[in-house]
Amino acid sequence: MFRIRKLLPLCLTIPCLGFVWGFFAHKKINRLAVFTLPSEMIGFYKKNIEFLTEESVSPDRRRYAVKDEAPRHYIDLDDFGDSAIYKLPRTWQKAVERYGEDSLMEKGIVPWHVTRMYYQLKTAMLLYDPQKILWASAELGHYVADANVPLHTTSNYDGQLTNQVGLHGFWESRLPELFFNDYDFFVGKASYIGNVPDYAWQAVTNAHLALDSVLYLEKQVGEKLKNKKYSFETRGKQTVKVVSYQYAKAYHSALDGMVERQMRASVKMIGDLWYTAWVDAGQPDLKKLIDYKPSTQELETREKELELWKGRNYPARKHEEDGNN
Ligand SMILES: [Zn+2]
Repeated sequence: MFRIRKLLPLCLTIPCLGFVWGFFAHKKINRLAVFTLPSEMIGFYKKNIEFLTEESVSPDRRRYAVKDEAPRHYIDLDDFGDSAIYKLPRTWQKAVERYGEDSLMEKGIVPWHVTRMYYQLKTAMLLYDPQKILWASAELGHYVADANVPLHTTSNYDGQLTNQVGLHGFWESRLPELFFNDYDFFVGKASYIGNVPDYAWQAVTNAHLALDSVLYLEKQVGEKLKNKKYSFETRGKQTVKVVSYQYAKAYHSALDGMVERQMRASVKMIGDLWYTAWVDAGQPDLKKLIDYKPSTQELETREKELELWKGRNYPARKHEEDGNN
């Protein structure tokens, strides 16, 4: 079956500050995405901004406990051979036909899972179910953010194959935590996306194209600041070993805005997909959802109606829309 990434044990020897767009960055990204939304949506999302912020990290919390969760966070493109980013099928069904599900689960499925979560959000909007809309929005935000991280697109996810162990947490946790206040998050308004699978793949492609720089520049900084990599910091009552500020700053400068760019891309993309799901669901009135608590019976009836409608109108697409991966 699929390989569970073993970043957790590393945290026992080198104290980690998180291991997947650290919790800090995930929370900020989901939160900021709310402000890209149009007036018809923003009230409902703002009212629930604490939920969207906190739930942004749920997929990571269950990552080691839930079967099939881990591969949703990454894709090892190098395991698919040359030019995989250009050759891989954009839709899950076609990918399964070509590679088989077991093989895909072994190598990671993040771009397909982003599309799957978009469909789940669209369905939640069609059902007019506030809890489901919030849950799917928060979860979609998590996987979108992961899809924008270069180290989530390679089997060398922690720099372990290039003698750079710990690079994962360094890039996506330590750097945003140190330099977040310098970033500009004015990303403009959410846009409608005509082709969601292509959009998810474009994000993964952009992230993957940045991978060489992530690895190469850290090597360069490492050579210059060999003995200055680590320092100690006090956090509450604990003293933890961290990558030193000097080292982090040198690497951050060498990356020339990359962490900020990838965070901004995540914020914009989340807003775009929330907005697109809402438009594709026929623009349900979210203002009325703010204080609306549907009964279980109401929701069950709507769910049955929707199933029937989908089966009649989109039998071929139903599999994909239900996100059966
Ligand atoms: Zn993740």
